[in-house]
Amino acid sequence: MKTRLMRQGIKFDRVGADWLPDISQLIRKRLDNPKRLKEEHNTRAIGKTIIRQLCDNQGSGLRLSSCGSCIRQQAFAHYNWVKDGHTIDGAARLTFAVGDALEAMIVACLKEACVDVDINTSYMGDDQLEVSIAVPFGESGKQVANIVGHPDGMMNVPIFNDLLGEQSLDKEWVVLEIKSMSDYAFKRFRADGLSKTDSYYYQIQAYMLATGTSRTYILAFGKASAAKDAVTTEHHWEPLFPLVGQWIKEDKEIQREIQENYKTILTSRSPFDLNVPFKPNKKGRIGFPCDYCSYHKHCYPDSSEVAETSKWLQSSTKVKLYVGENDA
Ligand code: SF4
Repeated sequence: MKTRLMRQGIKFDRVGADWLPDISQLIRKRLDNPKRLKEEHNTRAIGKTIIRQLCDNQGSGLRLSSCGSCIRQQAFAHYNWVKDGHTIDGAARLTFAVGDALEAMIVACLKEACVDVDINTSYMGDDQLEVSIAVPFGESGKQVANIVGHPDGMMNVPIFNDLLGEQSLDKEWVVLEIKSMSDYAFKRFRADGLSKTDSYYYQIQAYMLATGTSRTYILAFGKASAAKDAVTTEHHWEPLFPLVGQWIKEDKEIQREIQENYKTILTSRSPFDLNVPFKPNKKGRIGFPCDYCSYHKHCYPDSSEVAETSKWLQSSTKVKLYVGENDA
């Protein structure tokens, strides 16, 4: 059974009975072939998105982008409690700035890549859409909270169905979400895609609910990827590209859970009405996500930070240059 085919200059992948465009391949093709720019890019706005890391932009409150995080953590943010746990320090801000710069580059590249094919891009970069979910709560359900979010972009893409044939080629608005990932998260994403328990899975479900769309293309960039990364099989090797994409469909069950979680938070009297959903291990070590939580001192007042050396060794596969015969 065919899993890939080309139509209208776009590579399509089979996802179930649907054929969906491979957006990462379009971006890669454009990156591999630098040429004259065809689109107008707001370079001033791109700079602004990076410099924003120097401003105090850590607001509180409920946001669609955090709907996949711990429900108690969201309640702390909703009730504007003091952030007494993991802090966003200078090192983290530099990492975020690199992520912002990369996202701006990927968005610009995607716009350029779509000029010659039948894909429309919209609400990206400095033009992001503000979307919201209205959550009724309270005993009579008369109170309504509007929780807002900002997807990275929207695309109108051609899609066709295996059962109905190529004549069913149709266009559909979808959400675009770009994530720069740690080495561990990116390797997991490349191997298995997003899992239903992943906080990003919840975030994109919230965006689909808010925009009335039924698909998202999530594009991940491996922050620790390098130009010479490669993958080997028994007889050959090939370079590993640091961008990987995945199509995700709307998931009504998770969308219901997101809304229920919001109702629980909005009808609580304090974050302490909600249980601590994570426990320390037998040695007393508090793991993820609590160790990265901005409120962990409220949940674990007697916790303390200890520096530890990890014995987790990582192997890597890189392209090396040889002269003469070799069996590598
Ligand atoms: S410390 Fe853990 S349990 Fe407490 S709010 Fe943060 S993530 Fe949730």
